[in-house]
Amino acid sequence: MNNLTDLSKITALAKRRGFIYPGSEIYGGLANTYDYGPMGVELLRNIRNLWWEEFVHGRDDIVGLEASLISHQEIWKASGHTSGFADALVDCRNCKLRMRADHLLEDYIEKKGKELDVTKKMEVISPDELKLAIESLKVEGWSEVKMDEFISAFYVPCPNCSENKGDKWTKVRKFNLLFPVNLGIVEGDQSLAYLRGETAQGMFINFMNVTASTRVKLPFGIAQLGKSFRNEITPGNSVFRTLEFEQGEIEYFFDPEVNNWEELFEGWKSSMWDFITKGLGIYAENLRWRIHSDEERSFYSKRTEDLEYKFPFGFKELWGLAYRTDYDLSQHEKGSGKELRMVDSQTGKKLLPHVIEPAVGVNRLFLMALSDAYCEEEGRVVLKLSPKIAPFTVAVFPLLANKEELVSKAGEIHKTLKRVFHATVDARGNIGKRYLSQDEIGTPYCVTVDFDTLTDNMVTVRDRDTKDQERVLISNLIPFIQGKMESWGK
Ligand SMILES: [Zn+2]
Repeated sequence: MNNLTDLSKITALAKRRGFIYPGSEIYGGLANTYDYGPMGVELLRNIRNLWWEEFVHGRDDIVGLEASLISHQEIWKASGHTSGFADALVDCRNCKLRMRADHLLEDYIEKKGKELDVTKKMEVISPDELKLAIESLKVEGWSEVKMDEFISAFYVPCPNCSENKGDKWTKVRKFNLLFPVNLGIVEGDQSLAYLRGETAQGMFINFMNVTASTRVKLPFGIAQLGKSFRNEITPGNSVFRTLEFEQGEIEYFFDPEVNNWEELFEGWKSSMWDFITKGLGIYAENLRWRIHSDEERSFYSKRTEDLEYKFPFGFKELWGLAYRTDYDLSQHEKGSGKELRMVDSQTGKKLLPHVIEPAVGVNRLFLMALSDAYCEEEGRVVLKLSPKIAPFTVAVFPLLANKEELVSKAGEIHKTLKRVFHATVDARGNIGKRYLSQDEIGTPYCVTVDFDTLTDNMVTVRDRDTKDQERVLISNLIPFIQGKMESWGK
Protein backbone atom coordinates (compact mmCIF):
# COMPACT_ATOMS: atom_id res chain seq x y z
CA MET A 1 0.00 0.00 0.00
CA ASN A 2 1.11 3.51 -0.75
CA ASN A 3 1.80 5.64 2.30
CA LEU A 4 2.69 8.92 0.69
CA THR A 5 2.49 11.70 3.25
CA ASP A 6 3.92 14.58 1.27
CA LEU A 7 1.51 16.30 -1.10
CA SER A 8 4.24 18.62 -2.39
CA LYS A 9 5.92 15.68 -4.16
CA ILE A 10 2.77 15.14 -6.20
CA THR A 11 2.15 18.82 -6.92
CA ALA A 12 5.76 19.28 -8.06
CA LEU A 13 5.57 16.28 -10.40
CA ALA A 14 2.10 17.37 -11.59
CA LYS A 15 3.40 20.79 -12.59
CA ARG A 16 6.68 19.56 -14.10
CA ARG A 17 5.06 16.87 -16.23
CA GLY A 18 1.94 18.72 -17.33
CA PHE A 19 -0.81 17.33 -15.11
CA ILE A 20 -1.89 20.44 -13.15
CA TYR A 21 -0.82 24.08 -13.27
CA PRO A 22 -1.82 26.85 -10.87
CA GLY A 23 -4.68 28.90 -12.41
CA SER A 24 -3.93 32.30 -14.05
CA GLU A 25 -0.26 31.78 -13.20
CA ILE A 26 1.39 34.45 -15.41
CA TYR A 27 -0.83 37.08 -13.77
CA GLY A 28 0.28 36.11 -10.30
CA GLY A 29 -2.16 33.26 -9.92
CA LEU A 30 -5.76 33.06 -8.72
CA ALA A 31 -6.23 31.21 -5.45
CA ASN A 32 -8.06 27.89 -5.53
CA THR A 33 -8.17 27.61 -9.31
CA TYR A 34 -6.16 25.14 -11.38
CA ASP A 35 -5.62 24.36 -15.03
CA TYR A 36 -5.14 20.82 -16.31
CA GLY A 37 -2.20 20.33 -18.67
CA PRO A 38 -1.74 17.86 -21.56
CA MET A 39 -1.22 14.85 -19.24
CA GLY A 40 -3.79 15.96 -16.65
CA VAL A 41 -6.54 16.40 -19.17
CA GLU A 42 -6.05 12.85 -20.46
CA LEU A 43 -6.12 11.38 -16.96
CA LEU A 44 -9.21 13.42 -16.09
CA ARG A 45 -11.02 12.39 -19.29
CA ASN A 46 -10.17 8.75 -18.78
CA ILE A 47 -11.60 8.83 -15.25
CA ARG A 48 -14.71 10.65 -16.47
CA ASN A 49 -15.23 8.23 -19.36
CA LEU A 50 -14.79 5.21 -17.11
CA TRP A 51 -17.43 6.60 -14.72
CA TRP A 52 -19.90 7.23 -17.55
CA GLU A 53 -19.16 3.81 -19.05
CA GLU A 54 -19.79 2.11 -15.71
CA PHE A 55 -22.82 4.00 -14.44
CA VAL A 56 -24.67 5.07 -17.61
CA HIS A 57 -23.72 2.90 -20.60
CA GLY A 58 -23.07 -0.16 -18.46
CA ARG A 59 -26.53 -0.13 -16.87
CA ASP A 60 -30.06 -0.40 -18.19
CA ASP A 61 -31.62 1.63 -15.38
CA ILE A 62 -29.67 4.92 -15.63
CA VAL A 63 -29.93 7.73 -18.19
CA GLY A 64 -27.71 10.77 -18.66
CA LEU A 65 -28.40 14.49 -18.48
CA GLU A 66 -26.46 17.70 -19.01
CA ALA A 67 -28.15 20.72 -17.46
CA SER A 68 -27.22 24.39 -17.78
CA LEU A 69 -24.53 25.77 -15.46
CA ILE A 70 -26.41 29.06 -15.18
CA SER A 71 -29.69 28.51 -13.45
CA HIS A 72 -32.80 30.26 -12.16
CA GLN A 73 -32.52 31.79 -8.70
CA GLU A 74 -35.77 30.08 -7.62
CA ILE A 75 -34.13 26.64 -8.00
CA TRP A 76 -31.68 27.52 -5.28
CA LYS A 77 -34.32 29.04 -3.04
CA ALA A 78 -36.40 25.87 -3.26
CA SER A 79 -33.39 23.64 -2.63
CA GLY A 80 -32.44 25.67 0.44
CA HIS A 81 -29.09 26.78 -0.97
CA THR A 82 -29.68 30.55 -0.86
CA SER A 83 -30.41 30.41 2.86
CA GLY A 84 -28.59 27.37 4.23
CA PHE A 85 -25.65 26.83 1.91
CA ALA A 86 -22.99 28.73 3.76
CA ASP A 87 -19.59 28.37 5.32
CA ALA A 88 -18.92 29.68 8.80
CA LEU A 89 -15.81 31.86 8.45
CA VAL A 90 -13.61 33.64 10.93
CA ASP A 91 -10.98 36.34 10.34
CA CYS A 92 -7.73 37.01 12.18
CA ARG A 93 -7.86 40.71 13.08
CA ASN A 94 -4.07 40.82 13.14
CA CYS A 95 -2.90 39.20 9.88
CA LYS A 96 -6.29 39.23 8.05
CA LEU A 97 -6.23 35.46 7.47
CA ARG A 98 -9.75 34.25 6.66
CA MET A 99 -10.49 30.65 7.53
CA ARG A 100 -13.34 28.23 7.76
CA ALA A 101 -14.07 28.11 11.48
CA ASP A 102 -14.64 24.34 11.46
CA HIS A 103 -11.21 23.81 9.88
CA LEU A 104 -9.56 26.08 12.45
CA LEU A 105 -11.11 24.07 15.27
CA GLU A 106 -10.55 20.63 13.76
CA ASP A 107 -6.90 21.34 12.95
CA TYR A 108 -6.39 22.64 16.48
CA ILE A 109 -8.06 19.61 18.08
CA GLU A 110 -5.99 17.29 15.92
CA LYS A 111 -2.77 19.06 16.88
CA LYS A 112 -3.49 19.27 20.60
CA GLY A 113 -5.22 15.89 20.88
CA LYS A 114 -5.00 14.43 24.35
CA GLU A 115 -3.71 17.63 25.96
CA LEU A 116 -7.17 19.18 25.69
CA ASP A 117 -9.28 19.21 28.81
CA VAL A 118 -12.51 17.40 27.90
CA THR A 119 -14.05 18.30 31.25
CA LYS A 120 -13.72 22.03 30.73
CA LYS A 121 -16.84 23.92 31.81
CA MET A 122 -18.68 25.46 28.85
CA GLU A 123 -21.81 27.60 28.49
CA VAL A 124 -23.31 26.42 25.19
CA ILE A 125 -21.25 23.34 24.30
CA SER A 126 -22.48 20.32 26.26
CA PRO A 127 -19.90 18.01 27.93
CA ASP A 128 -20.90 15.19 25.54
CA GLU A 129 -20.47 17.41 22.48
CA LEU A 130 -17.07 18.54 23.62
CA LYS A 131 -15.94 14.99 24.29
CA LEU A 132 -17.23 13.78 20.92
CA ALA A 133 -15.52 16.63 19.04
CA ILE A 134 -12.19 15.90 20.69
CA GLU A 135 -12.46 12.16 20.08
CA SER A 136 -13.72 12.36 16.49
CA LEU A 137 -11.73 15.50 15.47
CA LYS A 138 -14.99 16.79 13.95
CA VAL A 139 -17.15 19.80 14.77
CA GLU A 140 -19.59 19.44 11.88
CA GLY A 141 -23.05 20.75 12.67
CA TRP A 142 -21.78 23.17 15.33
CA SER A 143 -23.42 26.61 15.40
CA GLU A 144 -21.41 29.84 15.12
CA VAL A 145 -22.00 30.44 18.85
CA LYS A 146 -20.49 27.07 19.77
CA MET A 147 -17.44 27.68 17.60
CA ASP A 148 -16.98 31.14 19.13
CA GLU A 149 -17.13 29.63 22.58
CA PHE A 150 -14.56 26.96 21.76
CA ILE A 151 -12.14 29.52 20.27
CA SER A 152 -12.25 31.76 23.32
CA ALA A 153 -12.33 28.94 25.91
CA PHE A 154 -9.29 27.15 24.47
CA TYR A 155 -7.46 30.22 23.16
CA VAL A 156 -7.18 28.78 19.65
CA PRO A 157 -4.23 30.66 18.08
CA CYS A 158 -3.96 31.91 14.51
CA PRO A 159 -2.06 29.34 12.38
CA ASN A 160 -0.62 32.17 10.28
CA CYS A 161 0.74 34.70 12.80
CA SER A 162 2.07 34.63 16.32
CA GLU A 163 0.29 37.82 17.45
CA ASN A 164 -3.16 36.27 17.62
CA LYS A 165 -3.05 33.88 20.58
CA GLY A 166 -6.78 33.25 20.39
CA ASP A 167 -7.85 36.75 21.37
CA LYS A 168 -7.79 38.49 17.98
CA TRP A 169 -10.46 36.62 16.01
CA THR A 170 -13.65 38.19 14.67
CA LYS A 171 -16.92 36.46 15.54
CA VAL A 172 -17.69 33.42 13.38
CA ARG A 173 -19.98 34.48 10.51
CA LYS A 174 -21.81 32.68 7.69
CA PHE A 175 -21.02 33.35 4.02
CA ASN A 176 -23.17 32.04 1.19
CA LEU A 177 -21.35 29.73 -1.21
CA LEU A 178 -23.36 30.28 -4.39
CA PHE A 179 -21.81 32.38 -7.14
CA PRO A 180 -24.32 34.98 -8.30
CA VAL A 181 -24.39 35.93 -11.99
CA ASN A 182 -26.05 39.01 -13.41
CA LEU A 183 -27.82 38.43 -16.67
CA GLY A 184 -27.59 41.37 -19.05
CA ILE A 185 -30.78 40.71 -20.97
CA VAL A 186 -33.16 40.65 -18.00
CA GLU A 187 -34.36 43.67 -15.98
CA GLY A 188 -34.49 44.13 -12.22
CA ASP A 189 -34.61 41.31 -9.64
CA GLN A 190 -34.98 38.66 -12.30
CA SER A 191 -31.49 39.45 -13.64
CA LEU A 192 -29.99 37.51 -10.72
CA ALA A 193 -29.17 33.91 -11.51
CA TYR A 194 -26.64 31.50 -9.99
CA LEU A 195 -23.87 29.28 -11.25
CA ARG A 196 -25.02 25.89 -10.04
CA GLY A 197 -23.66 24.85 -6.64
CA GLU A 198 -24.24 21.17 -7.45
CA THR A 199 -25.35 19.15 -10.45
CA ALA A 200 -28.09 17.36 -8.47
CA GLN A 201 -30.73 20.09 -8.85
CA GLY A 202 -30.58 19.66 -12.64
CA MET A 203 -31.90 16.11 -12.22
CA PHE A 204 -34.77 17.20 -9.95
CA ILE A 205 -35.97 20.12 -12.07
CA ASN A 206 -35.87 17.92 -15.21
CA PHE A 207 -37.52 14.97 -13.51
CA MET A 208 -40.82 15.33 -15.41
CA ASN A 209 -39.02 16.04 -18.70
CA VAL A 210 -37.04 12.82 -18.39
CA THR A 211 -39.98 10.64 -17.34
CA ALA A 212 -42.16 12.10 -20.11
CA SER A 213 -39.58 11.85 -22.89
CA THR A 214 -38.02 8.44 -22.19
CA ARG A 215 -39.20 4.98 -21.18
CA VAL A 216 -37.64 4.93 -17.72
CA LYS A 217 -39.46 2.93 -15.08
CA LEU A 218 -38.87 2.75 -11.35
CA PRO A 219 -36.35 2.21 -9.95
CA PHE A 220 -34.15 4.30 -12.24
CA GLY A 221 -31.39 6.87 -12.07
CA ILE A 222 -30.47 10.11 -13.80
CA ALA A 223 -26.72 10.76 -14.00
CA GLN A 224 -24.82 13.90 -14.71
CA LEU A 225 -21.14 14.74 -15.03
CA GLY A 226 -20.21 18.41 -15.01
CA LYS A 227 -18.92 21.54 -13.37
CA SER A 228 -20.29 23.09 -10.20
CA PHE A 229 -19.19 26.25 -8.42
CA ARG A 230 -18.78 27.09 -4.74
CA ASN A 231 -17.34 30.27 -3.35
CA GLU A 232 -15.31 28.53 -0.68
CA ILE A 233 -12.28 29.26 1.40
CA THR A 234 -10.07 26.23 0.95
CA PRO A 235 -7.11 24.91 2.88
CA GLY A 236 -5.05 24.62 -0.31
CA ASN A 237 -4.75 20.88 -0.79
CA SER A 238 -4.18 21.08 -4.54
CA VAL A 239 -7.33 20.20 -6.53
CA PHE A 240 -9.06 18.58 -3.53
CA ARG A 241 -11.33 21.59 -3.00
CA THR A 242 -11.53 24.33 -5.61
CA LEU A 243 -13.94 27.13 -6.52
CA GLU A 244 -14.89 25.33 -9.71
CA PHE A 245 -15.01 21.55 -9.70
CA GLU A 246 -16.51 18.63 -11.51
CA GLN A 247 -19.13 16.35 -10.03
CA GLY A 248 -20.42 12.96 -11.01
CA GLU A 249 -23.86 12.67 -9.46
CA ILE A 250 -26.64 10.14 -9.77
CA GLU A 251 -30.16 10.56 -8.45
CA TYR A 252 -31.57 7.06 -8.11
CA PHE A 253 -35.37 7.20 -7.85
CA PHE A 254 -37.51 4.44 -6.36
CA ASP A 255 -40.85 3.69 -4.72
CA PRO A 256 -40.13 3.07 -1.01
CA GLU A 257 -43.16 0.75 -0.84
CA VAL A 258 -41.70 -1.48 -3.55
CA ASN A 259 -37.94 -1.27 -2.95
CA ASN A 260 -36.22 -1.58 0.41
CA TRP A 261 -34.02 1.49 0.70
CA GLU A 262 -31.46 -0.26 2.87
CA GLU A 263 -30.92 -2.88 0.19
CA LEU A 264 -30.52 -0.23 -2.52
CA PHE A 265 -28.16 1.70 -0.28
CA GLU A 266 -25.96 -1.36 0.29
CA GLY A 267 -26.01 -2.07 -3.46
CA TRP A 268 -24.73 1.41 -4.17
CA LYS A 269 -22.02 1.05 -1.57
CA SER A 270 -20.65 -2.01 -3.30
CA SER A 271 -20.90 -0.42 -6.78
CA MET A 272 -18.92 2.60 -5.57
CA TRP A 273 -16.32 0.46 -3.83
CA ASP A 274 -15.84 -1.73 -6.92
CA PHE A 275 -15.49 1.28 -9.18
CA ILE A 276 -12.67 2.68 -7.05
CA THR A 277 -10.81 -0.55 -6.39
CA LYS A 278 -11.38 -2.52 -9.60
CA GLY A 279 -12.17 0.28 -12.06
CA LEU A 280 -9.53 2.79 -10.99
CA GLY A 281 -7.18 0.26 -9.39
CA ILE A 282 -6.87 1.95 -5.99
CA TYR A 283 -5.48 0.17 -2.91
CA ALA A 284 -8.45 -0.95 -0.77
CA GLU A 285 -6.38 -0.29 2.38
CA ASN A 286 -6.48 3.43 1.57
CA LEU A 287 -10.30 3.51 1.64
CA ARG A 288 -12.87 3.52 4.40
CA TRP A 289 -16.56 4.22 4.99
CA ARG A 290 -17.64 6.88 7.46
CA ILE A 291 -21.25 7.19 8.63
CA HIS A 292 -22.45 10.74 9.22
CA SER A 293 -23.50 11.47 12.78
CA ASP A 294 -27.01 12.77 13.52
CA GLU A 295 -25.63 16.32 13.87
CA GLU A 296 -23.91 16.51 10.53
CA ARG A 297 -26.56 14.71 8.50
CA SER A 298 -29.21 16.87 6.80
CA PHE A 299 -32.57 16.68 8.60
CA TYR A 300 -34.29 15.03 5.60
CA SER A 301 -31.65 12.36 5.08
CA LYS A 302 -32.24 8.97 6.68
CA ARG A 303 -28.64 7.85 6.19
CA THR A 304 -25.49 9.39 4.77
CA GLU A 305 -22.14 7.67 4.40
CA ASP A 306 -18.92 8.92 2.87
CA LEU A 307 -16.39 6.78 1.10
CA GLU A 308 -13.13 8.34 2.24
CA TYR A 309 -9.66 8.08 0.76
CA LYS A 310 -6.42 8.41 2.67
CA PHE A 311 -4.92 11.47 0.96
CA PRO A 312 -1.43 12.70 1.97
CA PHE A 313 -3.28 15.18 4.22
CA GLY A 314 -5.45 12.53 5.86
CA PHE A 315 -8.68 10.61 5.27
CA LYS A 316 -11.10 12.87 3.37
CA GLU A 317 -14.42 12.54 1.61
CA LEU A 318 -14.28 11.20 -1.91
CA TRP A 319 -17.78 10.00 -2.61
CA GLY A 320 -20.93 10.74 -0.59
CA LEU A 321 -23.94 8.45 -0.50
CA ALA A 322 -27.19 9.81 0.91
CA TYR A 323 -30.76 8.59 1.17
CA ARG A 324 -32.63 11.89 0.71
CA THR A 325 -36.24 10.60 0.84
CA ASP A 326 -38.58 12.68 -1.39
CA TYR A 327 -37.28 15.94 0.04
CA ASP A 328 -35.86 17.46 -3.17
CA LEU A 329 -38.80 16.71 -5.46
CA SER A 330 -41.29 17.91 -2.86
CA GLN A 331 -39.32 21.14 -2.36
CA HIS A 332 -39.46 21.81 -6.11
CA GLU A 333 -43.19 20.99 -6.20
CA LYS A 334 -43.68 23.68 -3.58
CA GLY A 335 -41.24 26.12 -5.16
CA SER A 336 -42.45 25.82 -8.76
CA GLY A 337 -46.11 25.09 -8.16
CA LYS A 338 -45.81 22.26 -10.72
CA GLU A 339 -46.73 18.68 -9.99
CA LEU A 340 -43.66 16.42 -10.08
CA ARG A 341 -45.44 13.11 -9.45
CA MET A 342 -44.91 10.33 -11.95
CA VAL A 343 -47.17 7.41 -12.74
CA ASP A 344 -45.42 4.12 -12.16
CA SER A 345 -46.11 2.14 -15.34
CA GLN A 346 -45.96 -1.17 -13.45
CA THR A 347 -48.31 -0.41 -10.56
CA GLY A 348 -50.32 2.46 -12.06
CA LYS A 349 -49.65 4.40 -8.87
CA LYS A 350 -48.99 8.14 -8.97
CA LEU A 351 -46.13 9.05 -6.63
CA LEU A 352 -43.26 11.28 -5.68
CA PRO A 353 -40.38 8.80 -5.70
CA HIS A 354 -37.70 8.69 -3.03
CA VAL A 355 -34.07 9.11 -3.98
CA ILE A 356 -30.62 7.76 -3.14
CA GLU A 357 -27.77 10.00 -4.26
CA PRO A 358 -24.19 8.88 -4.88
CA ALA A 359 -22.17 12.09 -5.49
CA VAL A 360 -18.48 12.05 -6.31
CA GLY A 361 -15.92 14.79 -6.93
CA VAL A 362 -14.16 13.96 -10.20
CA ASN A 363 -11.14 16.15 -9.36
CA ARG A 364 -10.85 14.25 -6.08
CA LEU A 365 -10.77 10.98 -8.02
CA PHE A 366 -7.99 12.56 -10.07
CA LEU A 367 -5.95 13.60 -7.02
CA MET A 368 -6.56 10.20 -5.45
CA ALA A 369 -5.35 8.43 -8.61
CA LEU A 370 -2.12 10.44 -8.56
CA SER A 371 -1.54 9.99 -4.81
CA ASP A 372 -2.23 6.29 -4.92
CA ALA A 373 0.01 5.76 -7.95
CA TYR A 374 2.99 7.86 -6.84
CA CYS A 375 5.96 5.69 -6.04
CA GLU A 376 9.68 6.27 -5.52
CA GLU A 377 11.78 3.15 -5.98
CA GLU A 378 15.28 2.20 -7.14
CA GLY A 379 16.19 5.69 -8.25
CA ARG A 380 13.04 6.33 -10.25
CA VAL A 381 9.72 8.08 -9.73
CA VAL A 382 6.90 6.03 -11.16
CA LEU A 383 3.15 6.58 -11.37
CA LYS A 384 1.60 3.14 -11.08
CA LEU A 385 -1.69 4.26 -12.63
CA SER A 386 -4.18 1.71 -13.84
CA PRO A 387 -3.59 1.24 -17.60
CA LYS A 388 -7.26 2.14 -18.06
CA ILE A 389 -6.67 5.72 -16.93
CA ALA A 390 -2.97 6.44 -17.65
CA PRO A 391 -2.56 9.41 -20.06
CA PHE A 392 -0.75 7.16 -22.53
CA THR A 393 -1.23 3.40 -22.64
CA VAL A 394 1.84 2.79 -24.72
CA ALA A 395 4.96 4.63 -25.91
CA VAL A 396 6.92 3.53 -28.99
CA PHE A 397 10.70 4.11 -29.16
CA PRO A 398 13.04 3.75 -32.12
CA LEU A 399 16.29 2.45 -30.54
CA LEU A 400 18.23 5.24 -32.22
CA ALA A 401 16.72 8.55 -33.26
CA ASN A 402 19.11 9.05 -36.18
CA LYS A 403 18.48 5.73 -37.97
CA GLU A 404 15.80 6.37 -40.56
CA GLU A 405 14.69 2.72 -40.91
CA LEU A 406 14.11 2.43 -37.13
CA VAL A 407 12.26 5.75 -36.96
CA SER A 408 9.97 4.89 -39.83
CA LYS A 409 9.24 1.38 -38.45
CA ALA A 410 8.41 2.95 -35.07
CA GLY A 411 6.14 5.45 -36.84
CA GLU A 412 4.32 2.59 -38.58
CA ILE A 413 3.77 0.71 -35.31
CA HIS A 414 2.63 3.89 -33.57
CA LYS A 415 0.04 4.46 -36.29
CA THR A 416 -1.38 0.96 -35.84
CA LEU A 417 -1.44 1.15 -32.04
CA LYS A 418 -3.11 4.58 -32.08
CA ARG A 419 -6.28 3.07 -33.51
CA VAL A 420 -6.75 1.05 -30.32
CA PHE A 421 -4.77 2.76 -27.55
CA HIS A 422 -3.65 6.22 -26.59
CA ALA A 423 -0.10 5.94 -27.93
CA THR A 424 2.90 8.25 -28.26
CA VAL A 425 6.34 8.14 -29.87
CA ASP A 426 9.46 9.12 -27.95
CA ALA A 427 12.85 9.42 -29.65
CA ARG A 428 14.68 11.82 -27.30
CA GLY A 429 17.82 10.81 -25.43
CA ASN A 430 18.76 7.20 -24.70
CA ILE A 431 16.36 4.34 -23.94
CA GLY A 432 17.03 4.51 -20.19
CA LYS A 433 16.05 8.17 -20.05
CA ARG A 434 12.94 7.52 -22.09
CA TYR A 435 11.86 4.79 -19.65
CA LEU A 436 12.33 7.16 -16.71
CA SER A 437 10.38 9.86 -18.49
CA GLN A 438 7.45 7.54 -19.32
CA ASP A 439 7.49 6.09 -15.77
CA GLU A 440 6.91 9.59 -14.37
CA ILE A 441 3.72 10.07 -16.38
CA GLY A 442 2.58 6.51 -15.75
CA THR A 443 2.82 4.99 -19.25
CA PRO A 444 2.39 1.27 -18.49
CA TYR A 445 4.00 -0.18 -21.64
CA CYS A 446 6.98 0.89 -23.74
CA VAL A 447 7.69 -0.71 -27.10
CA THR A 448 11.23 -0.54 -28.52
CA VAL A 449 12.04 -0.99 -32.20
CA ASP A 450 15.66 -2.17 -32.73
CA PHE A 451 17.72 -3.52 -35.62
CA ASP A 452 16.47 -7.09 -35.08
CA THR A 453 12.90 -5.80 -35.53
CA LEU A 454 13.69 -5.08 -39.16
CA THR A 455 14.34 -8.77 -39.81
CA ASP A 456 12.31 -10.73 -37.21
CA ASN A 457 9.30 -8.38 -36.95
CA MET A 458 9.50 -8.50 -33.15
CA VAL A 459 9.70 -5.65 -30.65
CA THR A 460 10.65 -5.42 -26.97
CA VAL A 461 7.77 -4.62 -24.63
CA ARG A 462 8.81 -3.26 -21.26
CA ASP A 463 6.42 -3.32 -18.31
CA ARG A 464 6.39 -0.14 -16.19
CA ASP A 465 5.74 -1.80 -12.83
CA THR A 466 8.00 -4.86 -13.02
CA LYS A 467 10.51 -3.48 -15.57
CA ASP A 468 10.33 -6.92 -17.23
CA GLN A 469 11.01 -7.03 -20.96
CA GLU A 470 9.53 -9.42 -23.47
CA ARG A 471 9.99 -9.93 -27.22
CA VAL A 472 6.62 -9.85 -28.97
CA LEU A 473 5.65 -10.25 -32.64
CA ILE A 474 4.37 -6.96 -34.06
CA SER A 475 1.32 -8.79 -35.42
CA ASN A 476 0.51 -9.92 -31.87
CA LEU A 477 1.22 -6.59 -30.15
CA ILE A 478 -2.36 -5.35 -29.74
CA PRO A 479 -3.80 -8.51 -28.12
CA PHE A 480 -0.63 -8.80 -26.03
CA ILE A 481 -1.10 -5.30 -24.56
CA GLN A 482 -4.82 -5.85 -24.13
CA GLY A 483 -4.09 -9.04 -22.20
CA LYS A 484 -1.67 -7.23 -19.91
CA MET A 485 -4.23 -4.47 -19.31
CA GLU A 486 -6.87 -7.04 -18.38
CA SER A 487 -4.67 -8.76 -15.82
CA TRP A 488 -3.19 -5.56 -14.35
CA GLY A 489 -3.29 -5.10 -10.58
CA LYS A 490 -1.20 -3.31 -7.99
ZN1 LIG B 1 -3.19 35.87 12.21
